[in-house]
Amino acid sequence: MDRETTVQDTLLDLRGKRALVTGASGGLGAHCAQVLASRGAEVVLAARRTDALKAVAEKIGTDARLQCVALDVTDGASRAALVRDIEPVDILINNAGLVREGAALGHAEDDWDVVMDTNLKGMFFLAQALVPGMRERGGGSIVNIASILGLRQAGGVVSYAVSKAGVVQLTKTLALEWARYGIRVNALAPGYIDTDINRDFWQTDAGKALILRIPQRRLGQQEDLDGPLLLLASDASRYMTGTVIAVDGGHLVNTL
Ligand code: NAD
Repeated sequence: MDRETTVQDTLLDLRGKRALVTGASGGLGAHCAQVLASRGAEVVLAARRTDALKAVAEKIGTDARLQCVALDVTDGASRAALVRDIEPVDILINNAGLVREGAALGHAEDDWDVVMDTNLKGMFFLAQALVPGMRERGGGSIVNIASILGLRQAGGVVSYAVSKAGVVQLTKTLALEWARYGIRVNALAPGYIDTDINRDFWQTDAGKALILRIPQRRLGQQEDLDGPLLLLASDASRYMTGTVIAVDGGHLVNTL
């Protein structure tokens, strides 16, 4: 093995680290859990449905050290119980999120609230609850899952886009405040990633037209997130905090 390979492997090695992934019952969260486990991390998978989490854990495999714990990120008691059960944590992947679609003019107050409570408020208060433990362990890495919709705009997703813009600013603010504790806070801003939930849309005319606006002319695959995720979660990014990394095939820089 040459020296460069050895250095990279050491930096990306997650053995001995304990990671928490929220919203790990499917989609990107389940994928992130698998990627972190593949580098040796002990992973806590959290979401509201433990049966779905167990199915994900079974797929990841018995070699991995996994724990499945119920969590509703919008519920303070649920967050507190999780923190009690699972601490200490070195890596937090703040992934749980949802979208409520529809024109701004008809957007319901309940929809606004559930999106903000899940994508932004839940994210902040979970991180806040875990930071004292991370601080005691000498530091940690928090990776918030934002979206390119937090950096540019599209119609029909007003509360989602505003919540993700909030995630971007939350990331920078917390990076500033928690650097003194050795805690790094960064964000991934995925573009459009092919998952079970949106797969049908890509077959429609609107879906195909959208793909043509991505400079790389293709959708993201979940595996496209692996490198950026491992970078931010691991010591490979030890001098990075407050950054927002777009993983979008160039979508944010498309032509006017
Ligand atoms: P998904 O719906 O497949 O997964 C979302 C996860 O969050 C699920 O496990 C769900 O159970 C969980 N969740 C929702 N509300 C929760 C709550 N109150 N408490 C705990 N868990 C809760 O969606 P996804 O596409 O995998 O999205 C994951 C994250 O990535 C989200 O934050 C989303 O905004 C972001 N994102 C996705 C894309 C994409 O193209 N798929 C693009 C940009 C950003």
